This record gives sequence, C-alpha cells and structure tokens, in this order.
Amino acid sequence: MERSDVLIVGGGPAGLSTALFLLHERPDLKGHIRVLEKARYPREKFCAGAIGARADRLLATIGVDVDVPSVSVHSMSVVTSQGRASHSVPSIGRVVRRIEFDHRLAERARERGVEIVEGARVESVHIESDGVSVATSQGPFTGRVLVGADGVGSVVRRSLGLSFGRYRAQVIEIDTEEAEGDPDRRTLHFDLSDPTLTGYFWDFPTLVDGKALYCRGVYEVGGVVENAGDAADVPLEERFEKRLKAQGLNLGDYKQKRFGERGFELHIPFASPRVLLVGEAAGIDPITGEGIAQAIEYAHAAAPYLARKLAVDDTQFSDWNEHVRKSRIGFDLGVRTRIVSLCFGKRRTMMERYLLQTPSLLDAALKGWGGQKIPLTTLARLGFASALLAAKMPFQ
Ligand SMILES: Cc1cc2nc3c(=O)[nH]c(=O)nc-3n(C[C@H](O)[C@H](O)[C@H](O)COP(=O)(O)OP(=O)(O)OC[C@H]3O[C@@H](n4cnc5c(N)ncnc54)[C@H](O)[C@@H]3O)c2cc1C
Repeated sequence: MERSDVLIVGGGPAGLSTALFLLHERPDLKGHIRVLEKARYPREKFCAGAIGARADRLLATIGVDVDVPSVSVHSMSVVTSQGRASHSVPSIGRVVRRIEFDHRLAERARERGVEIVEGARVESVHIESDGVSVATSQGPFTGRVLVGADGVGSVVRRSLGLSFGRYRAQVIEIDTEEAEGDPDRRTLHFDLSDPTLTGYFWDFPTLVDGKALYCRGVYEVGGVVENAGDAADVPLEERFEKRLKAQGLNLGDYKQKRFGERGFELHIPFASPRVLLVGEAAGIDPITGEGIAQAIEYAHAAAPYLARKLAVDDTQFSDWNEHVRKSRIGFDLGVRTRIVSLCFGKRRTMMERYLLQTPSLLDAALKGWGGQKIPLTTLARLGFASALLAAKMPFQ
C-alpha cells in the first residue's frame, strides 16, 4: 500500500473536516490524504446532534454543505434550582442525526479526493524515523504524519502514552415521542435543576427517519474538584429514570444509548513527533459535552498548521498545543475549562442566578454558539463579572 502524506485515524467530524480543510489549503495533496475509519458508513454515533451554526459557517468557507434532514434551532431554554429563562436568536443552529451527517460529510470528502478506508480499525501506532505506521484490522498503513481524530477512546492517544485527563463524562440518551412540558420544536432545553448533578438533562427536537421525536439525555462530568452537592454518587441511570418519570415517560420503554466524553485540558500534551490530535481525541467542552462544532473548529486550526509544517518538513509538532491555545477553539475551550468549577462547584447558585438575571449573557451564549457577532461591550461586561465570580466577590 502506497504511503500517504497524511494518515488520519477516525472518520468523524474532526477527521473528515481536517482532510477537507487541508485539501483546501494544499490542493496538491489530493490523493495523498487517507482516512482510516473502523466502521462503515452510514454508521451510528451516539450523540444528540445539536450543531451550532458556527460549524456550518466554517465548512461553508470551503464550499462544503452537509445537507441532511435537520431541525432548525432558534432558541434555548434553561431551568435551574434558581428559576428559568429562555432566549431566542434566529437561525443559530440545527439538530441532525449523526448517522446521516457523518455519512454526508464522508461523501463530501470523497468527492474532493480524500481516500477513506472503511472497516479499518487501528490497533496500534508506531513512530518511525521517517514516518508513522499503524497496524489495523486491514493490515498496516504508513504515512509521513498522522492525525488522531478517533474520538473519546482514542487508540492514538493511548498508543502515544498521553494522559486521558480528568474531565471524563458519562452520558445516556434516548429518543422518544413528545412529552408534557416539552418546549416548541425550535428550542433546545437544558435542565440544571438538580444541584447534585455535575451536569444537566436535555430535551432536543430531532428527526428520526422523518419522524418528529425528542432526543433526551443526561450528561454528568467527573473531575470537578469542588462539587456543589452531597448526592453526587447517585447512579446516572437512576437520575435519568426519575426525571423521565416526571415527564410521564418510562426509561425501560426506550433503547438506551450510553457513552463517554472527554473534556479539554490545555496543560496536557496532545501531540508528539509526527502525530497530533484533533476533536474529542484532544478534548472538548467539559461543561456541556458539546463536541461537533469543536471537532470542526479543531480541523480548521489544524489544516493551515499541517500545511505549513509539511512544507518546511518540520514534523515534530512540538508547538501544536501552543497553536491550539492561540486559535479560536483553544481560547473557547480554555475559558470553559477554567469556569467548569464555577458552573458545577460551590459557586453554582451564584452563577445560575447571574445567568438567569442577565439576558445579555444568554444572548451572548446563543450568538457565540451560532457563530454570530457578540457586542464587545457585552463581552467586557461578562469578562468582568466572571472575574468577580472567580474571586468570590458579590456583585449586582
Ligand atoms: C450521548 C452523546 C450526546 C452528544 N450530544 C452532542 C450534541 O448534541 N452536540 C454536540 O456538539 N456534541 C455532542 N456530543 C459530543 C460529540 O458527539 C463528539 O464530541 C463529537 O462526535 C466528536 O467528534 P470527533 O470527530 O472528534 O469524534 P467522533 O465523532 O467520535 O469520531 C471518531 C471516529 O473515529 C472512529 N474510530 C474510533 N476508534 C477508531 C480506531 N481505533 N480505528 C479507526 N477508527 C476509529 C469512530 O468510528 C468515529 O467514526 C454528544 C456525545 C454523546 C456521547
């Protein structure tokens, strides 16, 4: 098998968009980028499928349109132990089914000349003096450099001996019919009313084979040092069952989809000579577990970096962490990692009160999610308030 210039492990949003953005930067790499994907499309990925419009906008900059059935999102609502709030901003995102989204993205990548090898499960990674080789269920593959985009359980990350970090989350989701109290079908609903849960429940409108359903789930992140509640060891399934009961639903009636997630931590290296990690293999938002748009943003940061490094034959990747830190995705994830304890720790009540009493915060959150402009004055005000919160000072 001919050696690739760039070998990418994982054909999810991070791996496929890295290939697409890189080809846009370096059209001469057409036919020299190979994605190894363990599954075969269309393949399921446990995920609620809510994508901020910033991801679609980024892909649109290189003319990629992932046109799959979607529910358009125009607002978010949140309930906490301190009250509830909702806010609308037109066209901030959509809800997709990953089985359809990832398949279409793979088709888009193939159309542009990316080779995707399906059914190739990478088992180990070996760094050599002049390249990288991987052992897979379909035999060995070699590349000049390798991108690890193989998600939360990243074999690449493990093979390199890189730490898995502390923000590990557990998630369970189900798809159900509409239930009493559901928001309208343009709204993403977040329920943070259980202060002992370091996470939240969600209800998102979704389309399953053309049928209007709701994807509901529970997200719980571990590793938050100062947990606010005392009952943090209640099994996740028990919490979910209780909440569904209040909605008139029975957990046992639905197919449960359970999976893990990994939060970002900048101080942990996510590169080594000839190998760099993107997407959830590197780490995503530990507060919400959102990772699709982040995967695409990682890819957008990785492509010019890789293009430059390949051009000068510098494949040590010793400054990949630093490059991520200076990029939009690194800034965003860095802020989230810093405030995860504010959201779920001892100052949670104060934080929630602030969220509910500050419409500009919700407005900024929605606009940021949707890739729309946030007024500088709002950003400055929010930065100031966050600093006060972090310093434990009261504010109005
Ligand atoms: C229940 C749940 C709900 C979620 N809901 C949302 C949501 O609503 N919105 C959102 O933004 N995020 C959500 N997320 C997070 C989101 O799904 C991930 O963060 C996102 O998919 C990360 O993209 P990725 O490309 O980095 O990894 P993945 O999407 O996980 O893709 C990795 C790819 O690598 C392949 N692979 C893995 N190991 C190997 C191997 N050894 N060899 C070859 N291929 C391999 C996999 O088959 C997969 O195709 C949710 C996660 C869960 C678990």
